Amino acid sequence: MKASPAAATDPVRLLHDAGLRVTPVRQGVLAILGKSKTPLDVPALLAQLPAQTDAVTVYRTLNTFTRKKMVHRVRGEERSWRYALGQASEGPEHQHPHFVCEQCGRVECLASAEVPTALAKAMKVDRGYAVHYTEVIVHGQCVRCR
Ligand SMILES: [Zn+2]
Ligand SMILES: [Zn+2]
Repeated sequence: MKASPAAATDPVRLLHDAGLRVTPVRQGVLAILGKSKTPLDVPALLAQLPAQTDAVTVYRTLNTFTRKKMVHRVRGEERSWRYALGQASEGPEHQHPHFVCEQCGRVECLASAEVPTALAKAMKVDRGYAVHYTEVIVHGQCVRCR
């Protein structure tokens, strides 16, 4: 049985699977991230949430989602966290590099690219360290800025 892409990003379903209560902010954040093609930071999320939404609640919600491995985060040029659905560090099939554009600041999930599973080994990370995953951020000019 294969879940359809729509079901995989259904906010209520995601919250249920994570054992979280369904709240308007949680539901809203997941719905926006589900529709977004790029990872979003908190100001970008707030711009799409109802006007009275509390920023602190959004930060707290994203921390919960990160802890529950429902989202992954990546830092942009200006060092603010941006969030995307799915877990970049869980299983090699979900590991993808991110791209940060030096010109427009756009951050993208390079979903069709892969982080080689043996990368930490290739970098000769000392065996004393337990490597959980390797984060790769590619910097340059995005397709739109080239
Ligand atoms: Zn760009
Ligand atoms: Zn990503």
